[in-house]
Amino acid sequence: MKEKTREQLEQELKNLRQQVASLKASEARWRQTEKALIRNLEERLVTEETLRQRNRELTLLHRVGQTFTATLDLDQVFAVILEEVRSLLEVVACSLWLIDPETEELICRQVTDPQSKIVNGWRLAPGQGIAGWVAQHGESVLVGDTHTDERHFKGVDRQTGLLLRSILTVPLWVKQEVIGVLQVVDEKINRFNETDLRLLEPLATSAAIAIENARLYKQVESYAVEMAQRVAERTQELSTAYEQLKELDKLKSRFVTDISHELRTPVTNIKLYLHLLQKKPHKSERYLVVINEQTERLMNLVEVITDLSRLDLDETKVKFTAVNLNDIARQVIAAHRSRAEASDLELIFDPAQPAPSVRADPNQLIRVIANLMDNAVNYTPSGQIRVSTHINKEQGQACIEVQDTGMGIDAEDLPYIFDRFYRGRGVGSSTIPGNGLGLSIAKTIIDLHKGEITVESQVNKGSTFTVCLPLAKT
Ligand code: ADP
Repeated sequence: MKEKTREQLEQELKNLRQQVASLKASEARWRQTEKALIRNLEERLVTEETLRQRNRELTLLHRVGQTFTATLDLDQVFAVILEEVRSLLEVVACSLWLIDPETEELICRQVTDPQSKIVNGWRLAPGQGIAGWVAQHGESVLVGDTHTDERHFKGVDRQTGLLLRSILTVPLWVKQEVIGVLQVVDEKINRFNETDLRLLEPLATSAAIAIENARLYKQVESYAVEMAQRVAERTQELSTAYEQLKELDKLKSRFVTDISHELRTPVTNIKLYLHLLQKKPHKSERYLVVINEQTERLMNLVEVITDLSRLDLDETKVKFTAVNLNDIARQVIAAHRSRAEASDLELIFDPAQPAPSVRADPNQLIRVIANLMDNAVNYTPSGQIRVSTHINKEQGQACIEVQDTGMGIDAEDLPYIFDRFYRGRGVGSSTIPGNGLGLSIAKTIIDLHKGEITVESQVNKGSTFTVCLPLAKT
């Protein structure tokens, strides 16, 4: 093989050097490109991670928002909030505190494990602890180490046994007002960062709205229940009033029928005897006696009816004073003595000592006792009438009893004798005077006095009427 010349070798060396230089240049370029590629890749990775994180946050916020809108039960809202926060940040504990509008204390409404039982319901004075500070200032607080922050309330650590080092607390705002705080805690130092804060704040906004919605819903719900209850009560009142009106209307019709009936008898008699008087004037003396009697009866009846309607209409005209029950009894007994003696009836008075004083209208009370005495005299063919008074301290009442040894009242009549115009069977067709109004007037008066009138009776043995009235205040 032919040897290379020196020039040839030099030329080859030159070429090789050129190639090395060009290789070096491309290596440098290649290195630059590689660096740029790595940088690019790294940047993309960071962006991708940020996006993924942001996506996670948005998905969470969306889910939380949806859950909150769907939940109107306050406790459930609290539970959802804390569960979302806990699973998102994987922290030791998180808690939700609300301000008590009355005391302005911060009350722990819900806590995630492990110390929920201890902290739940806990009350912090206004401004106490980091939670109290956030509630008062309305600003979020990120504490990397509680040992370096004086606001930290060490009482919580002592009670729970947890040594809390990191705390992140955000306020819950509703319409320019802080209603509470959301707090996440952990035992590691510097456990939370700005990203956590950025995530927790919008979550707190949704939570606050959810809490407010649930509260409003609760208010509306209780208002609706109250309204429904009021409507039901009012409806019930109206239907009772309607029933009473119907009953009153019936009573009124019956009253008018009864009055017409009662008035017709004396009027018919008067007409009849006037006619006879015209035909047989020589018997005028006898007829005039009857006419007189019937006119008397008529006037009597009209008077009683007038009294009765006055009582119905003018409840307010009853004048209550302290009345000595013994005095009233004596007065009525004196007025009935001659009638009783004319029928050979013994009249006895057995007064309580000291004399009971009742709250009553004296004139009305006299009328009641007089009616009872009238009946006792009318319905007692022989024997005695005993009037007695006594005090019933336990009931705060004093009572007067009118007891007779008369014909008594049939058990079937007893429920009706206080009804207007009711007369006992057998009595109506007898010659015993009466119109069936005496007891109903007595009952109306006693009802106005907030008292009681009762009767006990045995046929052919006698009856006892008892009137009890409230004791007068001394
Ligand atoms: P009147 O006596 O005018 O019939 P009241 O209203 O006073 O009307 O009494 C109603 C009815 O009660 C009487 O018709 C009578 O049947 C019965 N009654 C009332 N008091 C007595 C009594 N002391 N003894 C027996 N029956 C009585």
